Amino acid sequence: MPATKFICRDGSTIPIKQCLSHCPNAQRCMFLPTLRSVAESLNRKLDKPSVTELIAGTRETYLKKTQPYAVDPMQQLYALHGSAVHTIQEGHNEGNIITEERLADDITSGKFDLYGQIVDLSDNTLGDYKVTSSYKLMKALGYYKIDVPTGEVYKTGLKKGQPKTRKEWLTDGVRHLLDWAIQLNYYRILLEEAGFKVKDMVIQALCRDYSLRMAAERNITRPLYLIKIDKISDRWVKLYMKVKAKRLEKALKEKHLPEKCSARERWHERKCQSYCNVAEFCPYGRLVKRAMNKAA
Ligand code: SF4
Ligand code: SF4
Repeated sequence: MPATKFICRDGSTIPIKQCLSHCPNAQRCMFLPTLRSVAESLNRKLDKPSVTELIAGTRETYLKKTQPYAVDPMQQLYALHGSAVHTIQEGHNEGNIITEERLADDITSGKFDLYGQIVDLSDNTLGDYKVTSSYKLMKALGYYKIDVPTGEVYKTGLKKGQPKTRKEWLTDGVRHLLDWAIQLNYYRILLEEAGFKVKDMVIQALCRDYSLRMAAERNITRPLYLIKIDKISDRWVKLYMKVKAKRLEKALKEKHLPEKCSARERWHERKCQSYCNVAEFCPYGRLVKRAMNKAA
């Protein structure tokens, strides 16, 4: 079941159809064509779960397929970015570039953003657009801070005699981008199975909060980063997706709620707290939200 309701700016919900035909407020929260695009993007009819649906937690995808959930159209705008970029670039993809093709195998289907001569002279790079936060970007790039001694010591106060330090950014940390890597690797496998050779996989990540001080504090100094994705073994990626597809299929067939999403899938509770559209239908999500409200 796709999303059936929009969340308005005041927190109330309204059936999407009703919103599109008549907004009860004096003024719409965004242009009607934008709302229509958002509504359309939510209403995908696929035979089998997509690559992105399988990468998400099985419980989250199950609830999205079975519950009449609501979405905030403002939040969905980021998800629309990929298609918006395609529209802006229409007519500029001449040469050896293929865009937005949906490919499928017996497990799932996925629509890659673009493939071809997009970053260098090689004509077989697989590219993907992302709009993301400076936090996710910092993690994906493997940035982290360490304390570096300045050579001075504190002369007074509680720390008297202790060495002074300053923070320094390092960029060789673990890159937390497994979901992106699985997604691109699956598109790569689908492309290769269709007879296209893929030399590189690259994400063009646009930072949505780049202009905020917070981004600079996370060492994000540019609005856009190109992030190279490493190859993961075909066998591992296929097996992972197969297991998740089977789990989802079984839950849908037997109409039982799957296990809660893994800690990684729920972004160590951050997703349950603020970014999961079906948290209200999930016992664990309700628990996390209750605890968060109590602590506030
Ligand atoms: S236009 Fe915006 S405020 Fe009006 S009903 Fe739709 S979602 Fe709500
Ligand atoms: S609230 Fe958390 S555990 Fe529940 S479906 Fe959403 S992400 Fe998964």
